[in-house]
Amino acid sequence: MKLALLDRDGVLNHNTPEGIRTPAELKVFPFAGEAVHLLNEAGYKVAIVTNQSNIGRGIVTEETLKKIHEKLVTTLHDGLGRVDLILFAPDHPDHATERRKPGPGMLLEAMSHYHTYPEHAVMVGDSAIDMQAAHRAGVEKKFLVRTGNGAATERTGLPPSVGAVHVVDNLLVAAKKIVGKA
Ligand SMILES: [Mg+2]
Repeated sequence: MKLALLDRDGVLNHNTPEGIRTPAELKVFPFAGEAVHLLNEAGYKVAIVTNQSNIGRGIVTEETLKKIHEKLVTTLHDGLGRVDLILFAPDHPDHATERRKPGPGMLLEAMSHYHTYPEHAVMVGDSAIDMQAAHRAGVEKKFLVRTGNGAATERTGLPPSVGAVHVVDNLLVAAKKIVGKA
């Protein structure tokens, strides 16, 4: 089973410094549905793996997060994209478990859910922690997008320990490369 692990904020939707706190704050990138659709068509399961410390901080409830994700899934579906799995880490950074990126927990969980292996998985993110989580989960195929925090991440540079990372403009370009259409 091929598996695409996607970070949420900055990859599928614009991020904000405070995080996305309401469905109204969620602005999905116009190309995101098409990108997810390309992955679906190529036989990839699409799993979102997102840190949501606003839950652990008591700023966003799980109920609101569910509504935010309903909007995300519906908007992506308008672009014919199908999300197969959404995992989030509610951890407060001060009490982070291995599920919170850069921990590999959510990525391992998604791979286990689909009985798949790191060699069949690919990670797309906009932050160093996404690349670190992928590395720690054994996922070698990694794409850093320039949307969200990505341009700043590219300027700052990634720790050499995470290994090779493909840097691309956005998720659509990443998806095309992943499925071999670019
Ligand atoms: Mg992000």
